[in-house]
Amino acid sequence: MEGAAPTGYNAVRMTEEWFELDADPAHVAREREKARALRKTAWWQRRVQRGLCAWCGRKVPARELTMDHVVPVARGGRSVKGNVVASCKDCNTRKKLMTPADQLMMKPVHPPSED
Ligand SMILES: [Zn+2]
Repeated sequence: MEGAAPTGYNAVRMTEEWFELDADPAHVAREREKARALRKTAWWQRRVQRGLCAWCGRKVPARELTMDHVVPVARGGRSVKGNVVASCKDCNTRKKLMTPADQLMMKPVHPPSED
C-alpha cells in the first residue's frame, strides 16, 4: 500500500462517513444501548415473530429480521418503539447504500405504530 488513490468506489463506506458528520457520540452510545434493551422486550419479540419486513412488507423468517431505526441514530433518531421497525437483510443493505436524505424519506409499509 503506497498511498495511491483508491480505485474502487465504496458506497457503503462513503455513506457511513456522511453519517459520522454530525453524530453526537454520547447520543449514539446511549441510543445503541437502549436498542439492545429494546431487542429483549416482549414487544420486539412479537414484532420479529410476525416475520414481516416493515420496508418491503415481505414475509421473511424471524431470524432474518433486524432492528432498523426509521430515523437513524446517527441523525438524531432514538431507540423507542415509535422509531424502530423490523427490516429484512435486503432492505437493510438497500438502505445503507442510500444517502442520508434518501434514508429519511423511506416510508415503512408497516409503520412502527402498528401493533
Ligand atoms: Zn424488506
